[in-house]
Amino acid sequence: MELYRKRGDNVALVPTMGALHRGHLALVRLARKRARRVVVSIFVNPTQFAPNEDFGSYPRRFADDLAALKAEKVEMVWAPSAAAMYPEGFATRVDPAGAAKAGLEDKFRPHFFGGVATVVTKLFTQVQPDFALFGQKDYQQLRVVTQMAKDLDLSVKIVGAPTVREKDGLALSSRNVYLSAEERAAAPVLYRVLKTSAGRIKRGDTIERVLDEGRREIAEAGFALDYLEARHALTLAPIIARKDGPIRLLVAARIGKTRLIDNIGV
Ligand code: AMP
Repeated sequence: MELYRKRGDNVALVPTMGALHRGHLALVRLARKRARRVVVSIFVNPTQFAPNEDFGSYPRRFADDLAALKAEKVEMVWAPSAAAMYPEGFATRVDPAGAAKAGLEDKFRPHFFGGVATVVTKLFTQVQPDFALFGQKDYQQLRVVTQMAKDLDLSVKIVGAPTVREKDGLALSSRNVYLSAEERAAAPVLYRVLKTSAGRIKRGDTIERVLDEGRREIAEAGFALDYLEARHALTLAPIIARKDGPIRLLVAARIGKTRLIDNIGV
C-alpha cells in the first residue's frame, strides 16, 4: 500500500465476505473506474454474526474467488485471518446509531451493524483506501457506513453501487446457494413486490395500503416476512406520505433456512 502511495496512485477498496458473484465483480469494476489500484478484502467477519446465524456454514470459496479477482486484474486481495483481526484481548467495538438503529436489520440482527462498523473501520485503517465501494443491495449497511465515515472524519469516500440481479429480478447474494429449487422459484416475489409497490406509491396510492398488500403477497409465496417498510432514503426514518422525502422500500424475509433482503428506490 505504501508503494502505491509513494507513486501517487489512489486506492479503491471493495470489502467482501467472499463467495464472490457478479454483484461483487460489478463493485470491482466500479472501483477500477475510481482508482488506479483496486484492493478486494475477503473476510467472513465473526463479530457480525449472532451465535444462531450462519457463520459456520457461510459459503467459503477462496480459490474460486482468487481466480475471479485475478481475471479482473485486481492488484491486491487482502484476506486476514480471524486471529489477526481479533487477537486475544481484543476489546473495542464501534457502535453506530442513527440508520443503524432504524428498526430494520438491526431489529432482527442486533449484533450486525456493530460488527460491520468495527470490521470496516479496521479494514479502512489497514488498507487506507481513497474510495470504498458498497452495494445498495445492503442498503442500511451502505447508509451506516456512509454516516460512520462522515462522523469519524475518515478520509475515505464511500461509493454506493446498484444491485445486480438475476434475470427474474432476484438480487444476487452469496446466500442464494442455500435455496432449494422450490424456494428459488418463489424468491423473485421480493423484487416483484418492491417494484409494483414503488410504482403504485409513485402514482399516489396510500403507502400503508400498498405495503399491506405487498406483505400479503410475500407471505402467500411461502416467505416468513421480517419487514416490508417504506423509509426515508437517507435517514431510514419511517415515512407515511410520499411528500415526506425520497423513499426507499426495504424488505427482509425468510424461506426455509435462508434469509433474503432487498430494497428499491421510489
Ligand atoms: P458480502 O460479501 O455479502 O458482504 O458483500 C460485499 C459487498 O458486495 C457489499 O457491499 C454488498 O452490498 C455488495 N453486494 C452483495 N450483493 C450484491 C449485489 N447483488 N449487487 C451489488 N452489490 C452487492
